[in-house]
Amino acid sequence: MSDPTRPRGPKIIAIANQKGGVGKTTTTINLAAALAETGNRVLIVDLDPQGNASTGLGIDAENREFTTYDLLLDDVDLVDVVQKTADDDLLIIPATVDLSSADIELFSNEKRSFLLHDALRQTAMDDYELDYILIDCPPSLNLLTVNAMVAAHSVLIPLQSEFFALEGVSQLMLTIREVRQTANPNLRIEGIVLTMFDMRNNLSGAVEKDARDNLGELVFKTRIPRNVRVSEAPSYALPVLAYDTASKGAQAYRDLAQELIKNQPRVAA
Ligand code: ADP
Ligand code: MG
Repeated sequence: MSDPTRPRGPKIIAIANQKGGVGKTTTTINLAAALAETGNRVLIVDLDPQGNASTGLGIDAENREFTTYDLLLDDVDLVDVVQKTADDDLLIIPATVDLSSADIELFSNEKRSFLLHDALRQTAMDDYELDYILIDCPPSLNLLTVNAMVAAHSVLIPLQSEFFALEGVSQLMLTIREVRQTANPNLRIEGIVLTMFDMRNNLSGAVEKDARDNLGELVFKTRIPRNVRVSEAPSYALPVLAYDTASKGAQAYRDLAQELIKNQPRVAA
């Protein structure tokens, strides 16, 4: 897609929340698939040592010879780390547990916060003609997540529609502010998306009210419903958009993609 107003190169979005199990990986995979469905070329960077995004898109452990670890810490050609998925427009750099030691190894590197930033801006990246790069962050505010925020134009925050959902968001906002002050002054908040939303559950409604009262315009209108098809899809190594294209989960991620494409990223926080 050619957008003359867009700066050269893909838009880079970090999907972050230091809580585990809130829908980061699910959102990364399915938002990427929804963007690809509308003609965008999308690269997922799996930045979680658990490698769930890689597994969920069918990159088996034996096919992860080169990973995000090599992208960050080794001199490796992009062609060796960027892998295809079942969808031609959806690429991934996979991760393995190696990445958990990278967090420590990064500390001794003087460019430690900029390694992903630099890796994603190497000229060989142009060959992929990407429109978006989505970074699936680990459940922590460690140096890997900081690398994602330094590399990114914006941060997208999945918020599980559960008790204590907002707990931790202020810490996350603080980290975003720190990254702005030290390394990436233009970092925006793409938005906060309510995940695993249950219409029939009063708690989901209460979390939504709380989120909109406290975070206002930062919260996407689109809510991702709790939907069993969404949770089944990774075991078939497919995004839910391919696994059950008419499911409520698939439709919600399409809506989220459209909202993201139309909205200007929000500055606040
Ligand atoms: P994170 O990456 O933040 O740890 P995941 O994306 O792995 O979170 O989601 C945690 C669990 O919740 C996974 O088992 C996933 O399949 C499930 N899940 C996520 N979103 C939904 C949804 N909309 N409906 C049903 N299950 C979901
Ligand atoms: Mg995850």
